[in-house]
Amino acid sequence: MEIVPLCEWFDDFSSGPFVIAGPCSAESEEQLINVAAGLKGKQSPQLFRAGIWKPRTRPGSFNGVGAKGLDWLSRVKNEFGYRLTVEAASAIHVEACLKAGVDTIWIGARTVSNPFSVDEIAQALRGVDIPVFVKNPLNPDVDLWIGAIERVYQAGIKRIAAIHRGFSPFEKTYYRNMPKWEIPIELRRRINNIPLICDPSHITGDSSLVYEVSQKAMDLNMDGLMIEVHTDPEHALSDCNQQLTPDQFSELMHKLIVRKPAFDDPGFINDLEELRHQIDSVDHQIVELMAQRLAIIDRIAEYKYLNNVSVLQMERWLEILQTRTEHAISLGLDTSFTEQLLKHLHQESIRSQTKLMQERKKQANGSSDISVGD
Ligand code: PEP
Ligand code: MN
Repeated sequence: MEIVPLCEWFDDFSSGPFVIAGPCSAESEEQLINVAAGLKGKQSPQLFRAGIWKPRTRPGSFNGVGAKGLDWLSRVKNEFGYRLTVEAASAIHVEACLKAGVDTIWIGARTVSNPFSVDEIAQALRGVDIPVFVKNPLNPDVDLWIGAIERVYQAGIKRIAAIHRGFSPFEKTYYRNMPKWEIPIELRRRINNIPLICDPSHITGDSSLVYEVSQKAMDLNMDGLMIEVHTDPEHALSDCNQQLTPDQFSELMHKLIVRKPAFDDPGFINDLEELRHQIDSVDHQIVELMAQRLAIIDRIAEYKYLNNVSVLQMERWLEILQTRTEHAISLGLDTSFTEQLLKHLHQESIRSQTKLMQERKKQANGSSDISVGD
């Protein structure tokens, strides 16, 4: 793909990471002006972001202010000189953004997950020379992400970048969305000239963790960051836990160590470091999966206790050992390594179930003592 390098997107490009900042959602004209004023200064971002139409997971949440927010954003552009970026999820959104003079659009994770919607947006972009950011889909499917990028590219857009915002977990995890760094790394391997921006706000879901993920993105040679900034995060109408104040944003930018000083570096990539980051990410997932397994084990223990069933169910254990070992062998893992690992997991399950059932028994005895006393 002949994708234009980020440093050539705009004629007044300054070196360093490409930064997009602004509130999760446009809430009022005053709020946008306050954030824009707060961001103005040495660490000014290249793009000012605000969601106008908000895709919410559950109905009943704040859905965004709609097209009237575009007029407020025009004021931000005219008074502060920022280029703007807005999320578009349909052809109608694209048309409204273009009419309002929005400089770039981003396609959100939920929209990228649906090829029909991406097609619709790509058609609306045909013949328009505007930069487009494509977030990763909600599920960790690199082909779906690439497919969305290809659809936009085929509509004639050459200024395209990918935004890594993490992947939806099934259970609660340390970060709001699982980073799975191996996926953006794989994306860059498959489209090696794609600019890659990290969105630490949506990955972490927690303003206190935004810095560590931003730094990690820089260590992985990502090209920039998209960070949510609000002057009163606590009262934000969406994503109130993850937005930074303008001062916190500026502090983060000062602390950030950028390994690659300019985009025109010879593309040096430290392979070992990159592989280590992949290992970190996979290990992190292994630990979280073990914690999820133990949480289910606790529920099983409660159930066994209530039904007076013994902890060790030999048939079930033999079935686990056999099916998991077969699966592991089919993936090229060593038989004895797999069996040892499964035995450790099983022992820990037995220990944890026995402990929980003993506790329940003690509690039951304790409460019957009390009732006798009463
Ligand atoms: C956003 O950037 O505010 C947003 C809704 O992002 P995502 O599509 O990554 O959830
Ligand atoms: Mn948000």
